[in-house]
Formats: sequence, C-alpha cells, structure tokens
Amino acid sequence: MKLAIFGIGLIGGSVAKDLRSSDFAGEILGVGRSQKNCDLALQLGLVDKIVSKEEAVKNADLIILTVPVNYLVEELIYILDHIQLHQVVTDMGSTKGIIIDAIKDHPNRKQYVSSHPMAGTENSGPSAAISNLFRDKVCIICDKEKSNEDAVSLVEKMYGMLGMRIKYMDAHQHDMHAAYISHISHISSFVLAATVLEKEKDEEAILEMAGGGFESTVRLAKSSPEMWAPIFQQNKNYLLEVMDTYIEKMYHFRNLINKNKNEELKNFMMEANEIRKILK
Ligand code: NAP
Repeated sequence: MKLAIFGIGLIGGSVAKDLRSSDFAGEILGVGRSQKNCDLALQLGLVDKIVSKEEAVKNADLIILTVPVNYLVEELIYILDHIQLHQVVTDMGSTKGIIIDAIKDHPNRKQYVSSHPMAGTENSGPSAAISNLFRDKVCIICDKEKSNEDAVSLVEKMYGMLGMRIKYMDAHQHDMHAAYISHISHISSFVLAATVLEKEKDEEAILEMAGGGFESTVRLAKSSPEMWAPIFQQNKNYLLEVMDTYIEKMYHFRNLINKNKNEELKNFMMEANEIRKILK
C-alpha cells in the first residue's frame, strides 16, 4: 500500500506516524507547501519522500488530503481528474458540505470518501504531529452511499488502524453538529482570549492567576488562524445561528448578574450542569 498525504501538518503528520507503525502503509509520500515544513516532515521521519502532486497522484493507492479546508476543493478536483480506477482519495477536513457539493457530479466521485476524524490539538505544522492522536476517538464518514463500497472499506480499514470508532452522517448534518460542538468552542475561546488581553494588561497577572479554569478554557485560542478562518467561513450558515444563541445566552447571564437575580442565576447554571450527564 502506497499512501500519499497532501499537507503534512498536525493531522497529516499524526496519521503518517500511526500508519507507519502499523503494517498498513509500505511507503508514505508527502506533498507539502513550504520547503521548510517539507524538510521538517522528512527529518522527523513522517514521510519517506516529498513529491509533487502529479507524482503523488500517479503512484499512490490511497491519497489523504489534510490541507486547510480552503484548499480542499481545488486539490480534490485535481486528484479526481487524474485518478485511476484502483485509486481512492479521502479528505479529513473539518467542513464537509461545500466539498461534497463541489464534486457531486464528477465522473470519479465514487472513488472519493468524505471523512472527518474528530481529534486534534491547538498546535499545527509537522512538529505538532503526535502518535495515538486518534485512538478511541470518533471519525465521521459522510454520504457513504455516494462512494464505492471498496473505497469506503479501505478508508474504514485505515481509520480502524488509527484506533477510531466510525459514525456515518449526511454532510450537512455533520456541518451543523460540528458548528454546535467543535466550532463554537473555538470561537468562544478566541473571544475569551481577546477579551482578557484587552482588559488585563498585566501579563504577569495573567500568568500567575491563570489557574486550571482560564488555562483550559482559553487553550483553543492558541489554534492556527490560517486553519480556522476558512472553517468558520465555510460553515457560516450554521455558525451564525449558534453564535446568535450564544450571544443571547451571554446577555441573559449578564442581566441576571446585573439585576442581582441570584436564584435565577443559580438555576441557569444548574441547567448548564446537565452537561455532566453526557460528558463525565
Ligand atoms: P496544519 O497543522 O496547519 O497542517 C496543514 C498543512 O498543510 C501545513 O503543513 C501546510 O503547509 C500544508 N498545506 C497547506 N496548503 C497546502 C497545499 N495546497 N498543498 C499541500 N500542503 C498544503 O493543519 P491541521 O491541523 O493538520 O489541519 C489539516 C486539516 O485537518 C484541515 O482541513 C482541518 O480542517 C482538518 N482537521 C483539523 C483538526 C484540528 O483540530 N487541527 C481536526 C480534524 C481535522 P505549510 O506549513 O508549509 O504551509
């Protein structure tokens, strides 16, 4: 099995690490952007060779796209235009609807499997790649019925090697759930960090007083803007809806504090405590 990974950053590099240590992949080809990060991916042993995208598409059995979502459609169309019948391509992007809609009428559509491994960290680039990032996490495969059965089986086998549980979903349903669960958490973390940086000018106080609470809530604000800005853009429709609810709830919370409505404030928080039933 020859693999090609387009975009050897946190996700691509972590996939490479785990698939290299299993017997799934004989050779891993990397397609990158900056020379610096291509060199780093080689040095770290994430890939065997850096190749051009033409070479990758000519030689790989399975092509994995782990570039930021704003490059996915262009790269996927190039690959589908050049792919042979025995080859399979999957992407691991955080948004699915735009990509699936863009290639829906492509003659080689069935060789593409749309997927999203729900795992990550706030770090990026090849040096952020870690082993076992995906173990025991969930991977969503979207619109499975629009891909060849063999292509889906191969991609499922790969995620099995990464230790992931697979769930199936419609692409637009995926984007809605992703907005509500993953994307809004990143937005609230970016906004919290910006708020604290604006109000609290004393860096030492931030450092000294940043106990568990602040540090864990603000962790996602360290994430890469280059990766997240296009995700927010592509998932705008669902995100605006969830942001409106979030802002409304924030105002309500503010009012309860302002009007000294202590009992109501406690009730609000008790309702929020219900999250414990889902996340232990
Ligand atoms: P990352 O660490 O920034 O890695 C992306 C890599 O893609 C970078 O190394 C970049 O190279 C390279 N790249 C950019 N454009 C390229 C192109 N046209 N051709 C080849 N390489 C290109 O980002 P990531 O966190 O791994 O995310 C990658 C994908 O996984 C995104 O689609 C994201 O939505 C998805 N995802 C992310 C997470 C997460 O939590 N981070 C979780 C699940 C899925 P340079 O560094 O040289 O610019």
